[in-house]
Amino acid sequence: ARRPIVIANWKLNGGIDLICTSVASFIGKHFETDIVVCPPYLYMRDMLTFLQYSELRIGSQNVSRYESGAYTGETSAQMLKEAGCSLCIIGHSERRAMFAENNLGCQVKVQTALNHGLLPVLCIGETQEERAANTTKAILLTQLSEGLNTVDLAGKDICIAYEPVWAIGTGLAATPDMVQEVHQFIRTELTRLYNEEIADRVRIVYGGSVNKTNATELLKQKDIDGLLVGGASLDPGHFLAICEQV
Ligand code: 13P
Repeated sequence: ARRPIVIANWKLNGGIDLICTSVASFIGKHFETDIVVCPPYLYMRDMLTFLQYSELRIGSQNVSRYESGAYTGETSAQMLKEAGCSLCIIGHSERRAMFAENNLGCQVKVQTALNHGLLPVLCIGETQEERAANTTKAILLTQLSEGLNTVDLAGKDICIAYEPVWAIGTGLAATPDMVQEVHQFIRTELTRLYNEEIADRVRIVYGGSVNKTNATELLKQKDIDGLLVGGASLDPGHFLAICEQV
């Protein structure tokens, strides 16, 4: 069975106050799931100093495709690993739309993350226009196959996040049926691209207007192995309520 994972993506939000209140609400609580918070880079170390009292882990919202050198403004996978990160989000739709990230770049980042022992969380998802034009599956397949092309997953863990762009920050979450259908499609394609053993092992999480009310039904679906939470994760009580449903 795949161990569920709930990931908080704070995006460009939060600060010391939110770190303190978030960690405080998780202290002494036990979960049968992985719970990972991705704060802005600058706060990772602050967060880590409190983590020994909770089961929370930290992740990053991005990673450099480069190892080191003259790449102003970048943070490498090795640095993230050294800082105590356990995973990194790769190819979030906001990075694709606003920072010109593409599938090929994602593939390099996935490989870099794996090389340094970070769990890559590769984000894929269609826009409203693409769904309306009935090209959702074609788009997802391109993002998946190009994002993973040549990456060797034998013995490696990876996570796929399905985040339909139209559901992000809109309050319009995809329905559990819709998400299950897409996740099943992703798993089938992973079987084709790799094999059944790998497809079975990969955790596929959903993101897009997840909240404590819709989380339960989403998590009941066979192929939904967890959640990627944006806005609702900025309220520690709300995020805790979501994690407690897994
Ligand atoms: P919201 O939960 O705010 O819709 O954001 C989802 C997301 O982009 C998480 O990565």
